[in-house]
Amino acid sequence: MHEGTETQPAHFDLTNARIAYRWASSRELQRAAMIYRLMSWRWATRWGSKILAWSVQHGLPGISLVRGSLFRQFFAGETLSECQQLGDKLAPFGVGAVFNYAVEGAGDEASFYASYQEILATIPIAALHKPGFAVFKMSALCSPELLTKLSAQRSLTRQEEHALSLLRTRIDHLAHECSHHEISLLIDAEESWGQAAIDTLSLELAAKYNAQRAVVYLTLQMYRHDRLAYLQQLSQESREKGYFLGIKLVRGAYLELENLRASTQGLPSPLYQSKGETDQAYNQAITFSVEQDGQIALFLGTHNLASSQLLAELLSRQQDKSRIPAAFAQLLGMCDFLSFNLAKYGFRSYKYIPYGPIRQAIPYLLRRAEENTALESQVPFELQLLKQELKQRKEKSS
Ligand SMILES: Cc1cc2nc3c(=O)[nH]c(=O)nc-3n(C[C@H](O)[C@H](O)[C@H](O)COP(=O)(O)OP(=O)(O)OC[C@H]3O[C@@H](n4cnc5c(N)ncnc54)[C@H](O)[C@@H]3O)c2cc1C
Repeated sequence: MHEGTETQPAHFDLTNARIAYRWASSRELQRAAMIYRLMSWRWATRWGSKILAWSVQHGLPGISLVRGSLFRQFFAGETLSECQQLGDKLAPFGVGAVFNYAVEGAGDEASFYASYQEILATIPIAALHKPGFAVFKMSALCSPELLTKLSAQRSLTRQEEHALSLLRTRIDHLAHECSHHEISLLIDAEESWGQAAIDTLSLELAAKYNAQRAVVYLTLQMYRHDRLAYLQQLSQESREKGYFLGIKLVRGAYLELENLRASTQGLPSPLYQSKGETDQAYNQAITFSVEQDGQIALFLGTHNLASSQLLAELLSRQQDKSRIPAAFAQLLGMCDFLSFNLAKYGFRSYKYIPYGPIRQAIPYLLRRAEENTALESQVPFELQLLKQELKQRKEKSS
């Protein structure tokens, strides 16, 4: 809990608009409202995304349009120092920053090395506001083909063996630096066909660095129907081997891709077939993790109000509030109502803050636009809160 927090009631109101937006200027809120209004028109977003991807690919002036809109809403900027400024702006409100170099790999050794250097540079900056987190995607540091081959346990060429050895050295150094700077390291989850390798490599690090506390966090995507059992298995194994388990819980970002691949290959989908089943598994994973009495450190990456409320309630029922390390996080530009209200109640709350060169940010930005359009209730709800706050400010100033 940080200073200036309110005492916790039995039920948490995580939708207070005044608290959600007090960190932002009215101009910023107007821009956010405009983007949310556009995203609430499904057809506009679908067509806009297609036109944008095409115009960027063909060197047409789509970039300047993106810079003033999606990029400003969902990205901190192009450099780590721009991120740091944003981190400093969030800190007084009890909201931490997780700097996420969100460049999607060019796929050669030079780009893997450059990404590695960039991720390394985020660690001392993340350590300025403790407790801090660094984050990376395994596919930013090696080719997705390597992860797929490793996951399928196919034999590697000599060149691939070398790439794997480089990868192991680099991720070990990232974990070592996080341990040294007393922060934690989140490892993102990706497509299921490369995930077994990501899990194995992450667990090697966890076994090495998590003896005293959870330095390394694996990510579990709860839209996969095998993940609840996997969580239980990991919990037992880590207990037996004597290390803490760090878990970032998400629902999963590759729904369409996973289902498409399964159907084209004639395989059963690894995912639940309904949102309700995913929600149920997600919430069961929260409850199970809290019941492990501190053995599992939880990082809840979600924009879902009910799941956030569930964890908040479970934590508030604990006698010793510091016993269960748990944090909440939302992506920059989305669901500030959760981030800032959770922080106001004294929970550890973070924004995932992507940054990187604008051209390479396009795939990430298009995913955010698509994702926000796909979510039936979230965009209208957030838009309603933004309007409410803007109206209140106008009334106050007149
Ligand atoms: C801080 C943070 C970190 C993240 N890190 C990762 C990561 O490392 N890897 C990753 O894959 N994603 C990551 N995500 C994205 C995440 O997986 C979700 O895509 C996104 O957050 C939306 O889910 P939700 O829980 O926020 O919201 P909700 O709106 O409650 O849930 C939407 C999600 O439900 C699931 N869903 C929807 N329809 C169905 C259906 N018919 N059947 C089954 N499931 C369905 C999908 O996963 C969909 O994304 C991260 C998100 C955040 C906030």
